[in-house]
Amino acid sequence: MQFPSQFKKPVKNQKKGRDKRPASITRFLGSFGTGLLIFFLLITVYSFVTGNGKDDKPTVSLSELSGDVSSGAVTAIEVDGDTLNLTYRDGTEKISKKETDNAITTSLVNYGVKAEAISAVKILVKEPSGVAYWLFNLAPFFLPLIFIIAIIWFLSRQVRGAGMQAFTFGQSKARITMPEDKKQKVTFKDVAGAKEAKQELMEIVDFLKNPKKFLDVGAVIPKGILLMGAPGTGKTLLARAVAGEAGVAFFSISGSEFVEMFVGVGASRVRDLFKVAKQAAPAIIFVDEIDAVGRSRGVGVGGGNDEREQTLNQILTEMDGFEPNEKVIVMAATNRPDVLDPALLRPGRFDRRVTIDLPDRADREEILKIHARKKPFAEDVNLLVVAERTPGFSGADLYSLMNEGAILAARESRTKVSQYDLIRAIEKVMLGPERKSHILSQQEKKITAYHEAGHAIVSSVLDYADPVHKISIISRGRAAGYVLHLPLEDRKLQSKKEFLDDIAVSLGGYVTERMMFGDITTGPSNDLQVSTALARDMVTKYGMSDNMGPVALEGEGGRVLFGRGVGDGEYSEMIAAQIDAEVKAIMTTGMNRAETTIKTHKKLLDAIATRLIETETIEREEFEQILIANGVTPKKKKDIEHLV
Ligand code: ADP
Ligand code: MG
Ligand code: ZN
Repeated sequence: MQFPSQFKKPVKNQKKGRDKRPASITRFLGSFGTGLLIFFLLITVYSFVTGNGKDDKPTVSLSELSGDVSSGAVTAIEVDGDTLNLTYRDGTEKISKKETDNAITTSLVNYGVKAEAISAVKILVKEPSGVAYWLFNLAPFFLPLIFIIAIIWFLSRQVRGAGMQAFTFGQSKARITMPEDKKQKVTFKDVAGAKEAKQELMEIVDFLKNPKKFLDVGAVIPKGILLMGAPGTGKTLLARAVAGEAGVAFFSISGSEFVEMFVGVGASRVRDLFKVAKQAAPAIIFVDEIDAVGRSRGVGVGGGNDEREQTLNQILTEMDGFEPNEKVIVMAATNRPDVLDPALLRPGRFDRRVTIDLPDRADREEILKIHARKKPFAEDVNLLVVAERTPGFSGADLYSLMNEGAILAARESRTKVSQYDLIRAIEKVMLGPERKSHILSQQEKKITAYHEAGHAIVSSVLDYADPVHKISIISRGRAAGYVLHLPLEDRKLQSKKEFLDDIAVSLGGYVTERMMFGDITTGPSNDLQVSTALARDMVTKYGMSDNMGPVALEGEGGRVLFGRGVGDGEYSEMIAAQIDAEVKAIMTTGMNRAETTIKTHKKLLDAIATRLIETETIEREEFEQILIANGVTPKKKKDIEHLV
């Protein structure tokens, strides 16, 4: 239906006009109006109570009254505050006002009334009535006060309404998982590997399930458990699993969520969180990434942060305030235990520390199996092989590997994930996606091929370098090409000889470019950064430099360990210069070794580079054939013999 425009217009405009004013202001004015209304109401009541309201009796002035008293017309005067109720001889009643400071008799005398005339009048002073009297005296003080309180109340309601949450920002933001929540439930079965960690945590589960058993023998239960481990090793997952196993409420919050714009909010969040958790006991409070609030106080970049310190102090206070039989356990996770404030690690706080390592080969296979549960696999899938090829992968990496594998299969419209998908997924997770659109020019391709061949030769020839697993000049992520290595076994310790060979391998690309093309590209920049950092660590951390001797000049993962002293990275200029000289010496030696190696295998270099330009990728079998054809024996493959 079509409305005539003149009907529509005014209505529309009117509405627009009103709508233009933001809702909050409209509401504010509304409540302000209500406030004023109440104010006037109060004033009316006030004036009524204090008796400003006139009766219908006639009023006479003091001088008139004096005359009437002198003439004997007045029989009685009743004094009620300042009001005089007059009774006349003829029975009429009138009203007058007396001077506030003077007694009525004084006033009459001042008006020249004779003493005898006054004594003929019955004067009665009335006691002021209780309520009225008090209201009358106190109202001047209280009314403004009431008015101010009313305004504040309205304003605060206004602010809250406007969504500023000025009065609620202290409440904790923790996410809660209740034990009844079957969907989100995680148990130890969902966590593969990490056997020691699980064993430690089993004790906590036991306590939460059956606290009486422990309390009866006077055992003190740990209040705080700190999970430490590299990112993605399953710290968060384990904490959830403890709650799931014990069947208790799980409060989870991240350290960074405590730190807000307003100072003091973090502390009040902590207070709130602990209060709620105690009500829900037995419960677990999980503070993820606790290093965000728990860094050493008073040190570090940017000086102290009041907010962080307050939050940390509040956490410590709450933990100290636990009753011995409180069934609340605080768990925290960090991948930077080295920067934590020592106060956090004191007995009675996070005194239980559980380290979670990167998974070894067997654990990796277990983790892969867990994430393989819901995926349809082709027969050729061998998770053991995948586990072999993924040293250094965390649980989270393996999870995304499985996922990438499934995505690859789906993209190629297959209903089952094959081994080939998983193998490709390894590289994708390790190096980022292939950049097929990133086409190299003929010259770039040649340079990259020689560069990668250089790496491959050095690592095939030097004794302690890892054997080559694959070479490619298809660019991935930031790399133009890459050489994949496969360590012969999972290693926990690394030696100086291995480091020196690693550095030589890293410089293999650089050396080859210079040798072949008489020029250096930006290609080796990452190689240089990585190897220089390694050389520096050898000198300053591991005591692997003969000239510097067995000293650690820097702590693990940065500067500060516990307070000041050795290991805080504050050494003299002289030492700094020595370090630089040592690093340079190590790098130069590495470069010379790489150069010698490549020069003696020049024919091999050409063969690999040529093949790479042709096919872009060389897998291990083919690579080893090229090695043998050029008189180099491939490395012994110990326990990876049976693979592929
Ligand atoms: P962190 O908190 O240590 O950084 P998470 O607990 O968030 O790591 O792990 C991320 C994901 O990786 C988990 O959700 C899980 O899918 C997977 N994962 C990590 N470790 C394991 C493990 N040991 N077993 C099974 N899955 C794991
Ligand atoms: Mg985590
Ligand atoms: Zn390189």
